[in-house]
Amino acid sequence: MSHFSSRKTLKILLGGFCLLAAFGVLLVAKPGVRRRLGISPIQPTNLFDLKGAMLKAGNPALKEVALTFDDGPHRESREQILNTLKQFHAKATFFEVGMRMEQNPDLLRRTIAEGHEIANHTMFHITLPGLKPDTLHKGINEADIVYYRFTGKHLRLLRPPGMRFDSATLEEAKRLGYITVSYTAASADYGDHVDPNNVIERTLSRTAPGGILLLHDYPATAKALPEILETLTKQGYQFVTVEEMLQHLPPKERAEALSCWNLSSEAPAGDRPAFLPLAVSEGKAKGL
Ligand SMILES: [Zn+2]
Repeated sequence: MSHFSSRKTLKILLGGFCLLAAFGVLLVAKPGVRRRLGISPIQPTNLFDLKGAMLKAGNPALKEVALTFDDGPHRESREQILNTLKQFHAKATFFEVGMRMEQNPDLLRRTIAEGHEIANHTMFHITLPGLKPDTLHKGINEADIVYYRFTGKHLRLLRPPGMRFDSATLEEAKRLGYITVSYTAASADYGDHVDPNNVIERTLSRTAPGGILLLHDYPATAKALPEILETLTKQGYQFVTVEEMLQHLPPKERAEALSCWNLSSEAPAGDRPAFLPLAVSEGKAKGL
């Protein structure tokens, strides 16, 4: 009897363990799997992290998405991307590399002139965690200096290269008045031999209301973009810039986000507040 009962206990324990393991696998499953299981990738309670000043997602109650393009401006793809955005009356946010803004000023000017939002993706696309404070500061700030020379305005949104960050990264970004922008849907659209059809499939299958789509300013993405925009338009999505997405957050998150720019939630987000260091360094204001 005691032998039987201990075997039974073991069976129950094993069964419980299997159930827990299955649940664990489910939780860490890929977004596509989670969606098939009906688990929304965007949690309405986790849109904005005030401590790290990080936007994680837009308002999932609104059928809108932010198109974000990292790593440019690139000669091989930017004009095609801009043409497509114009065709679909879509505004996007470009996380630019400072060095490439300097190399391709005409592309930056056209992007700005067509009403898109420019954001910071560091000066040289360096990995930020683990840098000395001064190098970290320069990596972020020098891209802003380049943009300032073009426009007389500062950048206010940052995406760390590779979305790699640590607490020092987020603290420095916040201190400089940035909101760090994460994403909800990546399409692995960078690197060699990217098939535009895969970019289309991955992007569309991972898009949800309030989504921030991580795309790159590269040729495969430029080829994929018309079908992505056509499909999302048919599905009723609006395309917003990241700043518009911040403005559309629920009241609490919106107030928290705007407080990072030193703005009250009643005020429209305008220029960056005056307390921030004006970081145009000597001898750098020539040449563009
Ligand atoms: Zn990047």
